[in-house]
Amino acid sequence: IFDTQRAIAWINRIAELVRADVERLTTLDTAIGDGDHGANLDRGMTAAVDALAEKEPETPGKVLITAGRGLVSKTGGASGPLYGSGFRAAGKAMRDEGDVVALSDALEAMLRAIEELGGAHHEDKTMVDAFAPAVAAFQQAAGATADMHTAAVAAAEAAEAGLAATVPLQARKGRASYLGPRSVGHEDPGAASTVLIFRALADVTA
Ligand code: ADP
Ligand code: MG
Ligand code: MG
Repeated sequence: IFDTQRAIAWINRIAELVRADVERLTTLDTAIGDGDHGANLDRGMTAAVDALAEKEPETPGKVLITAGRGLVSKTGGASGPLYGSGFRAAGKAMRDEGDVVALSDALEAMLRAIEELGGAHHEDKTMVDAFAPAVAAFQQAAGATADMHTAAVAAAEAAEAGLAATVPLQARKGRASYLGPRSVGHEDPGAASTVLIFRALADVTA
């Protein structure tokens, strides 16, 4: 069940995985951006974790809304508002029963919010290229097995495939798009952090 404690564990685990991979995210963003994605997200996730530790919310939805607010306030860069509004939208969509369908709907709401705010589509070489297939895989696996962990593992694998698929693409959104054809040949940093978000979900649903 995706209850309040599991929602908090998810946010804490994302923060851990981001912290462990700050350098890798920075290196990716140095290649096709301004080299701050690791630091941005580390700062934002730390703010999210701190906000949850300060006052524990009563529902899983409120956990995600609180985390989203922390992300928006501290992340900076394009990814802060994108992930921040994403988590807030997920929190608003999240129902208290916290079953696999509720989580599935929350993840879909998160994707929609990211797409709406950023205006990125499939193959624009952004986090959407990892997020969209992850949500689709989660929904498919959830429908087939009704098991949250199985669905989260499938989502993490799909996010990884989506990340790999960003390498040959030319960026059409965000800072990397300024590079034009020189953005080809690199993983998108935001797609890489999206992989961590779904890997964290797989970890805490195990
Ligand atoms: P900034 O580019 O402002 O320094 P970050 O480095 O934190 O912000 O985040 C960069 C990542 O944000 C990119 O790798 C990409 O995945 C994502 N991104 C940027 N613009 C958009 C957008 N319009 N829609 C979706 N994702 C985007
Ligand atoms: Mg950057
Ligand atoms: Mg920046």
